[in-house]
Amino acid sequence: MSEPPAGTDAGGRTLPFLAAQPVTLLRGVGARTAGSLADMGIESVLDLLTHYPRRYIDRTRQRSVAELAVGEEALVLATVRRVRSRRTRQGRALVELDVHDGTGTLRVSFFNQGWRARQLPEGSEALFFGKLGEFRGVHQLTNPVVDLVGSAGSRTGRIVPVYPSSEKAGVTSWDLVTWVEEALERAGRLADPLPAAWRDELGLADRTSAFTGIHRPESADAADEARRRLAFDELLRLQLEVVMRRHALERDARGIRHAVEPAFGAPDLVAEFVGRLPFGLTAAQRRAIDAIKADMAGSLPMHRLLQGDVGAGKTVVALAALLVAVQGGHQGALMAPTEVLAEQHHLSVHGLLEELTVPDPATLSGTRPLHVALLTNRTPAAERTRILGALATRGVDIVVGTHALLTEGVRFADLGAVVIDEQHRFGVEQRAALRAKGRDGEGEGADPDLLVMTATPIPRTAAMVVFGDLDMTVIDELPAGRAPVVTSWVRTPLEEEEAWQRVRAEVAAGHRAFVVCPLVEGSERVVAKSATEEFERLAAKVLPGLELGLLHGQMRSSDKEAVMARFRRGELGVLVATTVIEVGVDVSEATVMVVEDADRFGIAQLHQLRGRVGRSALPSWCYLLGEDVNPDAAQRLGALERSTDGFELADVDMDLRGAGTILGTRQKGRSDLKLASLKRRDRAAVEQARRVAEDLLRDDPLLERLPLLAEETRLFLGEEEAGYLFKS
Ligand code: ADP
Ligand code: MG
Repeated sequence: MSEPPAGTDAGGRTLPFLAAQPVTLLRGVGARTAGSLADMGIESVLDLLTHYPRRYIDRTRQRSVAELAVGEEALVLATVRRVRSRRTRQGRALVELDVHDGTGTLRVSFFNQGWRARQLPEGSEALFFGKLGEFRGVHQLTNPVVDLVGSAGSRTGRIVPVYPSSEKAGVTSWDLVTWVEEALERAGRLADPLPAAWRDELGLADRTSAFTGIHRPESADAADEARRRLAFDELLRLQLEVVMRRHALERDARGIRHAVEPAFGAPDLVAEFVGRLPFGLTAAQRRAIDAIKADMAGSLPMHRLLQGDVGAGKTVVALAALLVAVQGGHQGALMAPTEVLAEQHHLSVHGLLEELTVPDPATLSGTRPLHVALLTNRTPAAERTRILGALATRGVDIVVGTHALLTEGVRFADLGAVVIDEQHRFGVEQRAALRAKGRDGEGEGADPDLLVMTATPIPRTAAMVVFGDLDMTVIDELPAGRAPVVTSWVRTPLEEEEAWQRVRAEVAAGHRAFVVCPLVEGSERVVAKSATEEFERLAAKVLPGLELGLLHGQMRSSDKEAVMARFRRGELGVLVATTVIEVGVDVSEATVMVVEDADRFGIAQLHQLRGRVGRSALPSWCYLLGEDVNPDAAQRLGALERSTDGFELADVDMDLRGAGTILGTRQKGRSDLKLASLKRRDRAAVEQARRVAEDLLRDDPLLERLPLLAEETRLFLGEEEAGYLFKS
């Protein structure tokens, strides 16, 4: 790396240049070490410099053994004097060390960490960090954090980085300290691809000091500042990608200008539909429909995300979008991630659209009923053939279905709009497949408009990444008169009895109750069997004398409908069900829900389940049974007890689980976020990155005026994607 000026911009070295330098260029790294580093995913100098410290040891907090006080956190540098390994009476491995530092001696105990005996042999020196306790008169640290000091023990640096290391590869944190230091020195000044104006406005450190600061901070604050800059860079690259993807979509798109305001004499299906609803739309629903209409009237295809809390009334808005397409003679599709969801959507869509008619010159009246069909993998072959025929000849106006809609044999005469429910289970590829379905019809050969609906809110930060290429509409208002569901996390048999009392009382008052069965692993058949057993237990022992119904996914559709109808009419007071009731079940007299083994459900799922009650002005209750649960579950249940706001719960969920499950397959290759997170902590940074990305790309869509930034973004993107996004 001593040979400038290759890869050296006027302002210093670039990340692509560092990515092209193998670690073997460093003095301390020979072929064998390089092999070990490669096992850790570190091959280039850039890999090394972006192998960030896991945490820091603040040596200013270091104390001598004699200074330590029981109950306080302690950081001591000490030498191991004696090592004993044994098993406790419960059979746990116990390693006990006596350590000393010249001022005193201390006991250090490790439970279930038998390998510590090997890691810390007699005579080794290490930093121990933990809370000082006392056991039978002996001062001791139990399961402290350990950092092997080696030659770095004498280092004067006050804040010492601790790197993710690999015992297997034989690479310690201290090795990394040495190599990173050399890499930083030899890299010298780094080019900064972020325009100085933005750097100033956002108060961000420059690149060179950021890399120095994260690896060799002068203080905890300096490390934070460095992290803030480098995390911003990660988010900016991600947002550049997202915004470019958006531009690319528009570049390739051929949209349909839908007949939002029908011509004189033509039916206004949306208005008719809204007029027939037994309620008025909320202001938020009206705003959402207006935004959708404006999109659909335009020449670019709609790409919009519709978010709203459980019960906010997204279905009605989605149907309005499909009807805009239908009233212009196109077809609409509503796609759900599972068969059960598709079936339930079909039921409610069917109910909501009954009695609507569409023009049909072939009939005497000039109109025919609007046709809705259901297509899933469960659809019988003959029925499937009939539906496929009708789809290809405009005999079906709206089709509800699963992935089955994307299969080869499905041809639309003229697909004009698509609603995808719960998109995060669908990939970007599937969106593209759907788009193609619009192009091969006999219609205008254009892209259908796309509305993506999430079943429960997702955190704003995640939405800006995962759905960043979509416009966003939030229905931020529930229909009037909904009282929040009073939610209790039930922890004792006594509290549980109160829950069942509530069920009896509410049913006696003419209302209804749900009991959600424990979540069991296994096939649909196993789930059904366990639900049946629970139903029998409840009927015999817990709720004798009440009329109970059973609902699970293995039942025939006609049986399900029969049970639901009896429950709706009040002939059944209690519905014992699996999570098939999660979405779509809509009974306004339902006022109590008991969720068994609630600790086994996720936050979003519980929130969605809870949305089955509290659907009228009646007060309602939700009991989450969870005795003796693990700490994670305790946080989830506690959150549900505290809040009925789905957006707030989504944030909690993300803080607990991290972004991985939400990001799914979207995050590939090197664009992995190493420092930035989508948790609440970095929300402001995500929004800033979005703002900057939009600003930079506004009149320079391929970043031609910022070649450094373009090069860097390409570096982290992967070739195929970069080729697609950066083509002019
Ligand atoms: P979600 O947003 O959870 O999908 P739904 O679309 O299932 O909500 O609607 C929840 C319930 O609220 C349904 O029974 C629906 O008919 C009803 N609903 C929708 N909009 C309104 C409104 N504006 N006023 C009253 N009830 C409404
Ligand atoms: Mg819904």
